[in-house]
Amino acid sequence: MGGAEVKYVNEAFASNWVAPLGPNVNGFESDISIYIGINNQFHTAVLTSGTAALHLALSMINVGKDDVVMVQSFTFCGTTNPVSYQGAELVFIDSELDTWNMCPIALKEALERYKNRSVKAIMPVHLYGMPAKMDILQQIADEYNVPIVEDAAEALGSKFKNKSCGTFGEMAALSFNGNKIITTSGGGALVSKHKHYIDQARFLATQARDEAPHYQHSQIGYNYRMSNIVAGIGRGQMEVLDERVAQRRANNQRYREFFAGVDGVTFQTEPNADYFSNYWLTAILIEPSLNGGITREDVRLALDADNIESRPLWKPMHMQPVYEGTKFFGSGVCEKLFEQGLCLPSGSNLTEEEFDRIFSALSEIFKK
Ligand SMILES: *Cc1c(COP(=O)(O)O)cnc(C)c1O
Repeated sequence: MGGAEVKYVNEAFASNWVAPLGPNVNGFESDISIYIGINNQFHTAVLTSGTAALHLALSMINVGKDDVVMVQSFTFCGTTNPVSYQGAELVFIDSELDTWNMCPIALKEALERYKNRSVKAIMPVHLYGMPAKMDILQQIADEYNVPIVEDAAEALGSKFKNKSCGTFGEMAALSFNGNKIITTSGGGALVSKHKHYIDQARFLATQARDEAPHYQHSQIGYNYRMSNIVAGIGRGQMEVLDERVAQRRANNQRYREFFAGVDGVTFQTEPNADYFSNYWLTAILIEPSLNGGITREDVRLALDADNIESRPLWKPMHMQPVYEGTKFFGSGVCEKLFEQGLCLPSGSNLTEEEFDRIFSALSEIFKK
């Protein structure tokens, strides 16, 4: 927490705005819109989660049974679950090696193969904060006339070609879950340059209540709106977002300095100056054939023995039991990333002592 959160939460209590509406909700939405866009081009609806944001997005573009959604396989289930909620068919797309995000070549191949099906959306993800190749992906999406729903849950504060992640798709989701770059304990947002989507999202997120003195419903809604208490935390967090990005990027730089000269360890890295990652998590690949046989699992277990938590990268969704038998396009880049990849401790509040502990454990493993 940055410090100002409690002020906004106290204001909510003092004014008795303890509800899924109120000044903090409006204030947080406006803070986000201003942060990601210029000249009020973007609109925001704050919600209970990033997953809820993606669910509303798919629901508004009428994704349903018999439809297809093309999703980056290398991601968290928050991207894919909403497609399944809508009963649509998932088609999984591989990653490319530059950003670890959706591979344009595999996407094009899939779209070509699914030409005669109703493909309703393409969902790229900016994994660990690294922007996907949005210009090429958008070009392909336009060619096949399919909207992009952008999963920017991990990428608030990241930019591609000087534009904020979350501003590329027809709509985009942000997340403020407990582990994200900023947090409201739990929460998310849907953002779009199309005001009608955001108006509709607010309507659907509050049980789709028609205008009438009694409760009247012409369609099925959801209870997805963020509360004014939670939004108060969000307003405080927006004041420290840039500071958090700077801290995460500094973590990333420290790990790079440590691993300079260690064979067989590479980083998820901005391919060129067009990419600006918030480096939410620092992720590395460990290639045993280049480092004397040390595997990702060796490193994870050795850190764990020192009570230092690290994690494998996301297990690709096409490899998940729940999606067994689902179509996958690509050459298996994301499978290899999963096999060799590790997320290192990346908190914004890592102390000098903690870095010392991490580096001393890593030195032991890599005989540095
Ligand atoms: C966190 C996350 C989500 C979902 O966000 P929640 O707020 O936890 O529902 C979706 N996609 C990705 C890639 C995420 O990391």
